[in-house]
Amino acid sequence: MTPPPAEAPDGTLVPVDGETPVETFGQLRVEGTQIVAASGDPVQLKGPSSMWLNWEQDGYAESLDALVWMRDQWKLTVIRAAMGVEPGGAYLSNPDVAMAQVTTIIENAIDAGVYVIVDWHDHNAHVNQAAAEAFFSEISATYGHLPNVIYEPFNEPEQIDWESELKPYHEALVAKIRENDPDNLIVLGTPVWSQNVDVAAASPVAGTNLLYTLHFYSCTHTGFLRAKGDTALSVGLPLFVTEWGSTHSDGGLDGLVCLDEARLWTDWMRTRGISWTAWKLDNCSDSTCYFAPTGAPRDGEWTDAMLQEHGQFVRDRMRE
Ligand code: MG
Repeated sequence: MTPPPAEAPDGTLVPVDGETPVETFGQLRVEGTQIVAASGDPVQLKGPSSMWLNWEQDGYAESLDALVWMRDQWKLTVIRAAMGVEPGGAYLSNPDVAMAQVTTIIENAIDAGVYVIVDWHDHNAHVNQAAAEAFFSEISATYGHLPNVIYEPFNEPEQIDWESELKPYHEALVAKIRENDPDNLIVLGTPVWSQNVDVAAASPVAGTNLLYTLHFYSCTHTGFLRAKGDTALSVGLPLFVTEWGSTHSDGGLDGLVCLDEARLWTDWMRTRGISWTAWKLDNCSDSTCYFAPTGAPRDGEWTDAMLQEHGQFVRDRMRE
């Protein structure tokens, strides 16, 4: 007899001891603005985003041991596979390598019983729409029958018009995915590097189990962007923060972290039940890299000394 699921202080479901997140939560869906488990209880997914996979040298995101270690030690419930599309060596020029990386991360997530966001990591997906449709058609045909996969077909649109360019792209991609998978979550990018969720909220895409992307970097984005998020929520738009950092929006090239503002953001997400994945599971001098440039083992067992300030902050928020 399985004991009843434990409840976090804010009412969201947490994995039962001895069960994986997917065993406890099952097939996710959206009710109102909230992701809920098969049981109907609210769920807040939390976990890391990979680095652009075409630029990640050490294989952290592709390690099953690291994923299981983060699941058990950091309370990870989701991982985002940020599959670069346009740069040299990324999906458009090297599709077999990129697809193999994504497939490894998905298979690992299935083995570990966690959710996985398949992210078309592109700033110009609307001009690469045919390739995106073919990619998500294949992913949804292969994995759409499983509860693990979450689709993110456009990472960060730039300053393109919602109504005439971005919304039609999303409508096409949602239709393509829904040919194979009637129910898994799809997270839709919003204008201006996934900030203008209020614009999407005024004219949302038709369909079920759709959420919208809000990205923030806490040295750059403050209360003004949380206000956009609250505007969107107030008219019923479900949000998923698929990328955030406690740095400037360039990923922390200056090494700065803004942890007080990041805490305002993580509290904002927690109290609203908004799921998140945090940039980025890699080692480098950018202050969004979880690991110091001197590196960390690929497969887990990471000490505080191996983690930069942002990495420790993300880990601690995952554990809450
Ligand atoms: Mg499905």
